Amino acid sequence: TRGLAPSSSLAPQGVFGGTFDPVHYGHLRLAEEAAEALGLSSVRWIPAGQPALRAVPQASAAHRLAMTRCAIADNPRFILDDAEVASERVSYTVPTLERLRRAEVCGSRQPLVLLTGVDAFLRLEAWHRWRQLFELAHIAVVCRPGYSLRAEDLSPALAAAFRARCVDDLAALSASPAGQIVAFAMTPLDISATRIRAFLVRGMTPRYLLPDAVIDYIRRHNLYTEH
Ligand code: ATP
Ligand code: MG
Repeated sequence: TRGLAPSSSLAPQGVFGGTFDPVHYGHLRLAEEAAEALGLSSVRWIPAGQPALRAVPQASAAHRLAMTRCAIADNPRFILDDAEVASERVSYTVPTLERLRRAEVCGSRQPLVLLTGVDAFLRLEAWHRWRQLFELAHIAVVCRPGYSLRAEDLSPALAAAFRARCVDDLAALSASPAGQIVAFAMTPLDISATRIRAFLVRGMTPRYLLPDAVIDYIRRHNLYTEH
């Protein structure tokens, strides 16, 4: 007998937010490896307009959006979402996910998987309305050099959520629209936007840490030349 719905219609979609100041190969490999490991039909990249929990980004939202566009242009599975950048407001993930759920693109039954590096996940409790994340999406926690996902590094509330929601089977994410946590290991790449900005301000090349198209954009617009 056939299932209730063709499974292809419920392939999970990835949602990947970040400051992307600038976007680099750590981000690109994370999205690509998550897409393969989790069977994501697409990964929606959402540059934050004004991130809530960090200092003002160096590059403007328009530049960070444009750099992200350059970086993902040749990947048909990657989609750019400019909603947070277009908004004047501080960017929060829960309202963004609510918007995706309301929109035709995703609806209420589509599994969504929020992609986060371990460092971002460790701070999840500081996110606006963080408990509601689990009503809206699954979360994939991806390893990042220098950070670990040990129980003692999680706050009690986050550790409890993790224990209750963690699943080992990556394919399980297709079975429900939201609510589970998976941890997986990507090729470890110790690349950060902070380090890239530091190279640029010192006049050193960041080549091979991020796509040439993004470096060209940075040079053309004279970005990251001062602190
Ligand atoms: P910054 O140094 O300015 O904080 P960043 O390199 O951490 O920049 P972000 O835009 O802050 O980049 O990160 C967006 C998301 O990508 C976060 O979930 C973060 O954990 C993840 N991420 C960034 N770089 C890596 C990496 N090298 N490996 C794994 N995850 C990464
Ligand atoms: Mg960061």
